[in-house]
Amino acid sequence: MMFESLAEKMDQTVRKLRGTDKITEANIGGALKEVRRSMLDADVNLRVVDQLIADVRERAVGSQVVAGVEPGQQFIKIIYEELTRVMGKDAAPLARRAAGSGPTVVLLAGLQGAGKTTAAAKLALYVLLVACDVYRPAAVEQLQTLAGMIDVDVFTADLELGAVEIARRGLTAAEEGKYDTVIIDTAGRQVINDKLMRELRDVKAATRPDDTLLVVDAMTGQEAANLTRAFNDSVGITGAILTKLDGDTRGGAALSVQSVSGKPIKFVGTGEKVEKLEPFFPERMASRILG
Ligand code: GDP
Repeated sequence: MMFESLAEKMDQTVRKLRGTDKITEANIGGALKEVRRSMLDADVNLRVVDQLIADVRERAVGSQVVAGVEPGQQFIKIIYEELTRVMGKDAAPLARRAAGSGPTVVLLAGLQGAGKTTAAAKLALYVLLVACDVYRPAAVEQLQTLAGMIDVDVFTADLELGAVEIARRGLTAAEEGKYDTVIIDTAGRQVINDKLMRELRDVKAATRPDDTLLVVDAMTGQEAANLTRAFNDSVGITGAILTKLDGDTRGGAALSVQSVSGKPIKFVGTGEKVEKLEPFFPERMASRILG
């Protein structure tokens, strides 16, 4: 079962709890330290870890052990439940605009190399992709190549027009065409770049996206918390896509994103290929983070 790996790791504690009918600070203190270390190893942001440990402690200490349940198992279950709760519990689908009120618009934002262009192509099922990375002509080609593999149309315009105008025209093209969803790929940007952050806000204002997704590279590690906070404060996001989970990261960034912004991770990228995008399942991620 799901809790097994952690249970094995915390064998000592689980054994120590055997036969007790009450979970106390004394009998779980060591285990909480172990969980804390495990989460830090998985790149969960320090502050996020400490909040989580405090929540687990508060729920666990003093709790009466349910008859017929191993106290160790009960404790581990609390840890999983808290982890899963922080990550939003259920899978979160893309937003959908009501029928008849125009196409659904999804705006992708994030750092350079996070995987925005790749994610744009991956998200495409029956959509018009709008290439708005006006600073990197190769990104437009990359999007066209990826979209070509899955037979999806891309809207492009003279890059001199700028991101806002291209986005606006792309939306008009979608409304006039057969498209029910528009996905806007944007240039990578650092949060300290005021000009580019303003551009992103302007693209957002001009297209009124239903979803504004921050694309976060899972390898960002602890920094994912600051990154998410900064993008959310500056532009406002509705969710995130966590990419490159196929790497050797344990994915602690997932916990940071959710806990800092309160916004769900909607998808995870699990490879470079276009089909490598999966809905995000908090429970699976909880197992992975605990190792
Ligand atoms: P952008 O600058 O944010 O648009 O990033 P790109 O979409 O160009 O991606 C940067 C690099 O990361 C490319 O080499 C992608 O193939 C790669 N990449 C994107 N998503 C994933 C993923 O989920 N897994 C892996 N392994 N590589 C990815």
